[in-house]
Amino acid sequence: MEAVNQQFENVSLNEQQPQHVVSGKRKKPARAHHTFEQPTVQQPQFGGNNFVNPQGSSIIGNGGIINNGMPLNNNNNNTTNPVSSSSSINLTSPTANPSAYNASYQQQQTMSNSLGEQRLNDQKVYNDTTFDTSRNSILPMKTTQFYSVDSGSCDPRIMSLTMYNIPESESLRNCTKLPIGLNLQPFAPTLQLNSAEYLQRQQKKNDQTNLGEDEFNIDSVKETGISDENDTFEEGKLQVHFNKIDKDVGVIRCPRCRGYNNHNFQFSPDNQLLTCNLCKIQSKNPLTSTMSINSVMNMNNVNISPINGGVLDFEAPSEYNYIQGEESKPLHYVFLIDITTFANMNNSSITVIDAVQNSVELIASKQPNCKIAILGYDRNLHFFKLSPELNKAKEYIVGDLYGDTRDRGNENGSVFIPFHKGLFVKPAESMHVINDCLSQLKDHALNNKYMHLGDLCFGPAVETCLMMLKENSNGGKILASMNTLPVYSRGALRLRKDDNFQKDMKFGDHDYYRTIGNRLLKESCSIDLFLTTAAFVDLCNIGYLALNTGGKIHYYPHFQQSKDDFKVASDYLTSISSIIGYQCALKIRVNTGLRVDSYYNQSSVFERVEPQFPVMTTKTNVSVLFKHDGVIKEKDVHFQAALLYTDLNGKRMIRVINNSAAVTNSISEVYKFVDQENVADIIVKGSCVSLRYQATDYQLIRTNINNKLSEIMTQYKTTTNSNLATTSLVVIPDSLRYLPIYLLAFEKSLLMTQTKQSTRGNERVMSYFDFLTLPLNELVLKIYPQVIPIHVAMTDSDLTFHDPYTNLLTFETIETLSVNNSLKSLVNGGLYLIFNGSEVWLSFNQNTNALLLKDLLDYDFTPANPLILPSGIFPVTDREINTKCRNLLKYWAKKTCQYNDFLKISVLYPHQQTNNTLLMSLEQYNNILRYQIMFDDQSFDNTEPIEQYLSNMNMIVSKKIQKKEYVSVGSSQTKAEEATFAQKYMHF
Ligand SMILES: [Zn+2]
Repeated sequence: MEAVNQQFENVSLNEQQPQHVVSGKRKKPARAHHTFEQPTVQQPQFGGNNFVNPQGSSIIGNGGIINNGMPLNNNNNNTTNPVSSSSSINLTSPTANPSAYNASYQQQQTMSNSLGEQRLNDQKVYNDTTFDTSRNSILPMKTTQFYSVDSGSCDPRIMSLTMYNIPESESLRNCTKLPIGLNLQPFAPTLQLNSAEYLQRQQKKNDQTNLGEDEFNIDSVKETGISDENDTFEEGKLQVHFNKIDKDVGVIRCPRCRGYNNHNFQFSPDNQLLTCNLCKIQSKNPLTSTMSINSVMNMNNVNISPINGGVLDFEAPSEYNYIQGEESKPLHYVFLIDITTFANMNNSSITVIDAVQNSVELIASKQPNCKIAILGYDRNLHFFKLSPELNKAKEYIVGDLYGDTRDRGNENGSVFIPFHKGLFVKPAESMHVINDCLSQLKDHALNNKYMHLGDLCFGPAVETCLMMLKENSNGGKILASMNTLPVYSRGALRLRKDDNFQKDMKFGDHDYYRTIGNRLLKESCSIDLFLTTAAFVDLCNIGYLALNTGGKIHYYPHFQQSKDDFKVASDYLTSISSIIGYQCALKIRVNTGLRVDSYYNQSSVFERVEPQFPVMTTKTNVSVLFKHDGVIKEKDVHFQAALLYTDLNGKRMIRVINNSAAVTNSISEVYKFVDQENVADIIVKGSCVSLRYQATDYQLIRTNINNKLSEIMTQYKTTTNSNLATTSLVVIPDSLRYLPIYLLAFEKSLLMTQTKQSTRGNERVMSYFDFLTLPLNELVLKIYPQVIPIHVAMTDSDLTFHDPYTNLLTFETIETLSVNNSLKSLVNGGLYLIFNGSEVWLSFNQNTNALLLKDLLDYDFTPANPLILPSGIFPVTDREINTKCRNLLKYWAKKTCQYNDFLKISVLYPHQQTNNTLLMSLEQYNNILRYQIMFDDQSFDNTEPIEQYLSNMNMIVSKKIQKKEYVSVGSSQTKAEEATFAQKYMHF
């Protein structure tokens, strides 16, 4: 706590505001030339007779990974680098307290053998350390919550690279077999200590103290070039918007590559010339020459903003309108509600109507300029006129889904929209009419049983939403609930044979869905699906609409109102509150020498190359694979992403995101700054994309992954140290220590296993979507969930918050709090909380301490009295252990940005009872444990446990070395491997 407080204090004490330096004297970025001394070789922690390698690798001997004692954050020198460019960092110096900084780094422990344990270690480190975005090159783990200081690069939650020492050439890169890639989540919420908003707040505070509130002068804030209008900043709260530049401040662009000004643009002393850090071309400063709009934006004022931040937000000039000469509208929503017999029978329609009610209230208060429309559907479409002057909502039921076009010989037809005025309304103005509309729908669902219809016209309903959004706002968001397979009208789908799903995921193989999915994308409409049935709904086609438009599928396989109502409402609210804007386009610029090879993005995977984002949320992310385009001649590589979008209020905005990495010609330097979670991300995404095209053979995909891993291991063994090549032990660089675990866990996931029992494909398709689209902090937990034992002895500070803003959680007794994800590490009678990034399981059995269950859950254990958590809400008791668990849940919820910090808890109770409910939970238990949590075990599905996996890998590695199947440093051979279709996307 103290260290964080100190950090806060440091920032607040150094109230120097951002200086107005014309970006003339920028030096190279801090993150340059990683060099550091060889780490001291220490005795290995155990298995002392094993080989110790001084290069910072892990050697895996008899069943254990031996660490050679290399500190986890071996960038000690990096943090203390006498960074010459620190003078160019005009924001409050992040290293104001360098000694605290170092001390905390030195405390760091060696890496753990277990990934679960390492996650806790990493959190512990960042409880006392602030991440400096341009000087720290070893990233926090994706599961770690941390505070950062922006020193010119963006926060790693926004953009992170697979490596921060980039090989200068393809031949050197090929010696590592590691991908050069990045993950970009443009609006990831961060905890940044020196954002403009933060400093502005400090400035205000300071002024108020100095001058007294009466004399407080807003102009002094204005001068910083930072807009004051968005004063939603709250200390210690996750932030999405920062460093917004004032409207009247110009932003220079490189005349050559059109890159945006950043703190690495170099200006000649007289400001006549500028050298762009992206294309490295020197040009005339557009400010002193042309004044062309392409070069200078917002030229009302010759003021140039101080470009310090890794992330900048500013308004786009009207030339960047989505439609020329037309202002964009605030975001429009359509709520599409399934009111068929089936949805009414399981009460999902009622749950959804309640969720829509909550959503509308949220929009009214937080997004007041946005408009909404409500559409009910079964085999008819139920339109509602919501004009504010009405007392009651007026319903129009349209049964003719072909409109008048069929008369003219157009069998495809189009839907007739019965009225236009009052279709979309602002919730705050029409709240009474909206409430009436929702109660009409509810009344229909609850009471008019004889009026209920079984068929669902999903296709025409989506077409209608598309037409409505296109006519009214050129794009928008559709939130659609669905409870049954659509078999009526256009887009009717049929049951398919089961083996289609075991072998092949035919995404969008139905012409109708492919066409409409692409139309939605083209018209900037995004759809979220709320699926309340486990029955077959042909998710490959239905889901294609969401996948193709950056939407999300929410799946409640065994929907029960009493258990899922909160989750559904929370998912609606999360979906709405996470929206940043729509009509988005992305451009990524990088130095000469590298080029974008592939975007692993839902919308670009299928039909086009450049990613499109019909609607952008805080979770929207894209992974990008780069390839060399020649030798990189510079010392650093700069990455700049520019995102053009329309915000919720209809303003066209630009967000510029900057990042950089050093360039090296030494292979061992490359290994030191690899981020294994980003590497795993690229391999997982590559596999998903190839599954799209060649899903017939999971074995082939698995072989490709294993082959990639064995290549990486072979190259490490043969290129870094000649002694290593001859050892028969498993050798992995420290920086890649957990890569095999991630990859094996992925290979054992629901997506990749041969499903024995028919789930009609839903589960598999869902996991496919998840792997392809989840932000990294959720993805790593999806692949390898976190298990925390609750029955163990904890100290007072365990599972308490470390900072006053309840972001950082304390794990003090790490060894007892960490568990591997294998059945054999679970204790009989233990009690565990398990988190997979989106939901939490509570696991215990009849041997679990009854007092603990009472204290924790106020639950008296008897087999006849199964534990039920209504709505999946964790109970509140006055016991300390209960508080600790709620802290843990809050920490998880905040880390994954759940609305109102809500996480649904499900009970996993493994023992069979006579009672039917518990029989089901037994099945559920097995499925969840087998396929979703416990990867380290043998026995499931022919895949081996981790030890066996590593030893098999090692055999392959040894064979490769024997046969000299590896690339040596200096060899120019970058053999063009003939890639099969499936390999193409992992071809690095
Ligand atoms: Zn340029």
